[in-house]
Amino acid sequence: MQALILEQQEGNTLAALKNIDENQLPEGNVTVDVEWSSLNYKDALAITGKGKIIRQFPMVPGIDFSGTVRSSSDERFRPGQQVLLTGWGVGENHWGGLADVARVQGDWLVPLPQGLNGRNAMIIGTAGFTAMLCVMALEDAGITPQSGEILVTGASGGVGSTAVALLHELGYPVVAVSGRESTHDYLRQLGAGRILPRDEFNETRPLEKQLWAGAIDTVGDKVLAKVLAQTQYGGCVAACGLAGGFALPTTVMPFILRNVRLQGVDSVMTPTSRRLAAWERLARSLPQNFYQQAATEIPLAKAPEFAAAIIGNRIQGRTLVKIK
Ligand code: NDP
Repeated sequence: MQALILEQQEGNTLAALKNIDENQLPEGNVTVDVEWSSLNYKDALAITGKGKIIRQFPMVPGIDFSGTVRSSSDERFRPGQQVLLTGWGVGENHWGGLADVARVQGDWLVPLPQGLNGRNAMIIGTAGFTAMLCVMALEDAGITPQSGEILVTGASGGVGSTAVALLHELGYPVVAVSGRESTHDYLRQLGAGRILPRDEFNETRPLEKQLWAGAIDTVGDKVLAKVLAQTQYGGCVAACGLAGGFALPTTVMPFILRNVRLQGVDSVMTPTSRRLAAWERLARSLPQNFYQQAATEIPLAKAPEFAAAIIGNRIQGRTLVKIK
């Protein structure tokens, strides 16, 4: 089988496409022929070595994949069945999806929901799944399309793009924050009503004019601090990312004076029932044009090059990896 293999040499991460024996695959009760994977921000950190994602080498990266079950000793999965996987540490501490074959635990797999094929499932991938979890977090906080505008930061990235498309489709007025002028047409096509430049989010006061009913933040740091200061009374900010940094230079003011809710969102360990609900909603909510507009398809051999481009903020939308 062919796989992208990450190895460590003198503190540097090396990524190379290699042929390896399938009996090297890790333990697991389901073996999947992988057809599609994708490059998420975390994959980019792992493949380039820019982030300490992987601690045991050699490792096959790829935190998500879709494909067909080849063999299974888990009675919930049968050969020939279409499945997808995101998270659970796959591609971090268990060999992942950037390979012809993956061997995993049945507990981690999601049967491909009706209305979704394997390719579209990986255009969504971990990033899109996380965007759906963020939308569900806003809904749980009582934010409706009538509540007001929803801000999405890092909007042209994988999570941001899917969040913009989903919110628009659900009827929310969406305002996108992007650091790149070149992404504006793309963001408008996905459904952003207005676009704000990222550099307006560098400075903040503890409380600012109340602008947003809710927000989905993929960036963190000063941007998230400003978003909190601008969130309306009773609003909710779903925070899932750190593309701008992991700090959070804020005050308690938005929380104690405006009843603002800061809801963290993690996609890796999401319990199965919420996972299935999110995938089911993704399958029915995203419009067909999202799949055309938001994806760049690459072969596995190009994964290292595109991982570097993601870290350099030179990619918009999702990077889909064709395995077979
Ligand atoms: P992408 O690289 O696709 O998008 C990130 C976007 O953030 C970029 O497109 C850019 O948007 C913006 N950005 C990039 N660099 C900076 C910077 N230095 N300062 C401010 N903004 C920046 O990544 P994903 O969408 O896949 O992931 C986004 C974040 O969410 C990542 O931090 C990722 O780790 C996290 N994540 C978390 C998950 C979870 O389970 N909690 C799951 C999935 C992702 P623009 O150019 O439009 O400004």
